[in-house]
Amino acid sequence: MLKNKPQPTRRWLDLAPGDPVIVVTGKDKGKQGEVLRTIPDKHKIVVKGVNILKRHTKAGARRGGVSVAQGGVVDFEAPLDYSNVMLVCPSCSRPTRTKHTVLESGARALVCRHCGEPYERVRKTEAQ
Ligand SMILES: [Zn+2]
Repeated sequence: MLKNKPQPTRRWLDLAPGDPVIVVTGKDKGKQGEVLRTIPDKHKIVVKGVNILKRHTKAGARRGGVSVAQGGVVDFEAPLDYSNVMLVCPSCSRPTRTKHTVLESGARALVCRHCGEPYERVRKTEAQ
């Protein structure tokens, strides 16, 4: 039982599924979308309508344990690096960096650097 593989440091991503973001770098620069899912281990996120790639699938090919009945070309959103996107503040609708704060209720929240409005959401993921 060798344990020589370094464990990836699990970092908390500020973004969660459902958050509005804008892409600030790369080929999809300027596109806005909604976070579909986050991959904290790889420091990547998937944004709706951004970084579309085409996956060519053969009929009958097995992918993820599921047999694909119909072959063809499927569009899918590829993960992009977390640092390539910025949160869009719903209060001032500008892409913003965020800082952290703790609300009076004790909940953690992000705060827009521009307008100072806290950005709240219902966290579906559990805190570590
Ligand atoms: Zn703002």
